[in-house]
Amino acid sequence: MRYGFVIDHNRCIGCHACTVACKEEHNVPVGVFRTWVKYIEKGEFPDTSRHFGVMRCNHCEAAPCVEICPTTALFHRDNGIVDFDNSRCIGCKSCMQACPYDALYIDPNSHTAAKCNFCAHRVELNLEPACVVVCPTRAIMAGDLDDPQSQVSRVVATQKVASRKPQKGTQPKLFYAGIEGDFLQPSMMHADGGYAFADHNPAANQYTSAPDRAASAPGTARVVYDVAHPQPWGWIPAFYLWTKSIAAGVLIVAALMAVALSAANDSATRAILNFVSPAAALLFTAITAALLIADLKRPERFYFIMIKPNPRSWLVWGTWILIAYSGVAALWFAFGFFTASVPRALAAIAIPLGLGSACYSAFLFGQAKGRDLWHSPLFLWHLAVQAIIAGAALMILIDAAMRGRHYLGLAAAAVLIVAVPLHAFMILSEAFLPKDGEELRYAVDVMVHGKLRGYFWYGALVVGALVPLILLSLALPRHAAGIPLNALAALAVLAGLLAWEHVWITAGQAPPLS
Ligand code: SF4
Repeated sequence: MRYGFVIDHNRCIGCHACTVACKEEHNVPVGVFRTWVKYIEKGEFPDTSRHFGVMRCNHCEAAPCVEICPTTALFHRDNGIVDFDNSRCIGCKSCMQACPYDALYIDPNSHTAAKCNFCAHRVELNLEPACVVVCPTRAIMAGDLDDPQSQVSRVVATQKVASRKPQKGTQPKLFYAGIEGDFLQPSMMHADGGYAFADHNPAANQYTSAPDRAASAPGTARVVYDVAHPQPWGWIPAFYLWTKSIAAGVLIVAALMAVALSAANDSATRAILNFVSPAAALLFTAITAALLIADLKRPERFYFIMIKPNPRSWLVWGTWILIAYSGVAALWFAFGFFTASVPRALAAIAIPLGLGSACYSAFLFGQAKGRDLWHSPLFLWHLAVQAIIAGAALMILIDAAMRGRHYLGLAAAAVLIVAVPLHAFMILSEAFLPKDGEELRYAVDVMVHGKLRGYFWYGALVVGALVPLILLSLALPRHAAGIPLNALAALAVLAGLLAWEHVWITAGQAPPLS
C-alpha cells in the first residue's frame, strides 16, 4: 500500500480552502502551514496570467527527512504515509534542511517539527484527508498508488503529471497535473515588491533578495503570494562548526608535534603537549556540545539522541564520535598531567578521531538533500584543513602565552603557512569552479555578490587568509621574536574561519525550495 496525492491544477481556483481546512483539522498555529497555495504571475500587462501551486509534504518514498532525523521522530507508516511523533522530536531542525520542498516547520507551541501527515488519523478510519473533502473543485485527490483502480493511480497512468525535483531521488508520492512549470524551479522565480493581500514585503528577506537572478532573466514568473520561509539555522551552527574545528584540530596538531618535536623538551613545550592541549580540546568540545544543545528547540530532550537513536542519521554518528574523541582527550590529559608521559598509542588514536570529529559534518550536511551548496565534494577535505588551521592557530596562542622556547609556536606557524593558502584555494574553488544546477548557482551568487559578500571577501579571504600570510611571512625571519606577529596571524585565521562558517551555513540555505 502506497498512499499518495494527485493535485490537478487545471481545476484549482486558488481559494485556500485546503489551507484553512488543514489548519482547522490539526489546530495549526498562526504563521505556519502544513499546506498552502502559492500564487505566481507571468507576462506583462495586459497579457498576464496568474497560476496557483498547492504546496505540502510529498510523502517521499525515499524521504530524506526520515533518514536524517536523529530520534526517528519522522517515520514511514506501513501505508507509505510519512508521519511524525512530536513526543520524540528534539527540535534540531535537520529535517527542515533535508526536505528539498520546505514542507516542515517548527510548531511555535510545541517547539517540535510538524508537516502534512496525510491526515493519518482520518485515513485509519477510512476517511479522506480534510483538504480532499473541502476542495470545491475536487482538485485534490488522495488514495493508494498501488491500487490500479484508485483515482490517483488512474490519473497518474493516463494524464501528464509531474513531481517536484525528481532529480533529488526522493521519489515523491505527490503528483501534479497541469502545474505551471515555473513551480518546479523555485530559484528562477522572483518577488516583485509586495505580495497580494498582504503587507509582507518579500524583498525584506535578508538573503534571498540579494542577487535577483530570476528578475534579470526575461519571462520568469513573479511570486505574488507565498508563506514565509525562514532559514532554520543561524549563527549557532556556524559557531559550533568553528569550535568543533578548534577542538578537533588542537589535538591533531599536538599529536603530530609530539612525534616531530620529541627532542624538544623544555618544560613549557612538555606542559602544552602533555595536558594543556587535551584540556583545550576538552574545553572546545564542551563548548561545541553546549552550542549544539542550545540550538535545539527542545534542549531538555538532547539525550534522546542517545536513547532513541536513528542509526541512519549522521547527527547520531557525530554524537558518538564526539563522545569517543572526548574520552581520548580526557585519557591523554590524565596521563600527561599525572604521569608526564602520554602513550604513543593515544596520540595515534587521537588523530583519526580528531579528523572524524571535524569531518563527520560533511556526511551530515550531505544528508541535507535540500541544500545543494553543502554537497560539495570538497567539503569533507575542507573540514579537515579547517581543523588543521584552527588547531595550529590555537597552538600558536597557547605557546605565546607560555614562557617556553616557542618550538610549538614556530612549528604551528609553519603549518599555517602551508595550510592557509590551501584553505583559501578551497574557498575560492567553492565559489568559482563551474556549478551544475540553478540552486547551487543561486547560493554561490548570494555568497560572492549578495549580502554575504563582505563576510566572504573581507572576512574569510582578507582577514582569514591574506592578513595572516603577510604577518606570518614578516614573523618568519625573526624566529622566536616573531611570536607576537604569529599570534596576531593566529587570531586573524580564527576570525576569518568563523566568517567562512557563517557564509557557508547561510548561503547554503539561501535558495528558495518551494
Ligand atoms: Fe515530506 Fe519533505 Fe519528508 Fe519528503 S522530505 S517526506 S516532502 S517532509
